[in-house]
Amino acid sequence: MTAAILLSALAMTLIVALRYLATSGLFAWATERVKPGFYAKLGPQIRREIGWSLASAAIYGVPAGVVAWGWQNLGWTRIYSGWTDLPLWYAPISVFAYLFAHDTWFYWTHRYMHRPAPFRIAHAVHHASRPPTAWAAMSFHPLEALTGAVVIPALVFLIPIHVAMLGLVLAIMTVMGVTNHMGWEAFPRALVHSRLGNWLITASHHQRHHESYQCNYGLYFRFWDRLCGTDKGLSDAYLR
Ligand SMILES: [Zn+2]
Ligand SMILES: [Zn+2]
Repeated sequence: MTAAILLSALAMTLIVALRYLATSGLFAWATERVKPGFYAKLGPQIRREIGWSLASAAIYGVPAGVVAWGWQNLGWTRIYSGWTDLPLWYAPISVFAYLFAHDTWFYWTHRYMHRPAPFRIAHAVHHASRPPTAWAAMSFHPLEALTGAVVIPALVFLIPIHVAMLGLVLAIMTVMGVTNHMGWEAFPRALVHSRLGNWLITASHHQRHHESYQCNYGLYFRFWDRLCGTDKGLSDAYLR
């Protein structure tokens, strides 16, 4: 049994690492197309970003692997796989609930990480990327990676979700983590500046966090930043 749990943790670590390399690699390639030479002088920084990110892959992979094993073998978690197990209208609600819960956790832990001691000990690693690149998506100190790693493995015990919707949540998490750091806005201007876009976080918003530090702490939504007066709008460099 111990071997099976270890194997599951190892497999999940590999999956998270490969998912990171594939997604960041894809958007780094796209960046070279859109902004040739943008990463040209950032070689040493990118190597550090990849190193921290691969360490984070293990920190994310181990709890996820243990929970995945428990789900398969002991009936842990509230993940379901039949489309009629719960009403169909619940599927999009569950995706939103996961994103909002993750966003809430991220906002408050991120804000805490900007206090002097936790910043110096942990969060400075993420902000050492100046400017961040597509490879910085998981570039966190192990202590900070740990605060992120527990979120989804905890939520699957609390909020029911269809396995495919969980896959969608993880895909959104991965793509937004990469695109928010890659140095340019991938979403159309019409969306970013729309009434809906005003509540969503894309690169234009997170870039400002990396420029000004004490603002724009959110992950997916601008809800908490707006409510707490920490929303400083979009990066001037991105307003086109
Ligand atoms: Zn960031
Ligand atoms: Zn920060």
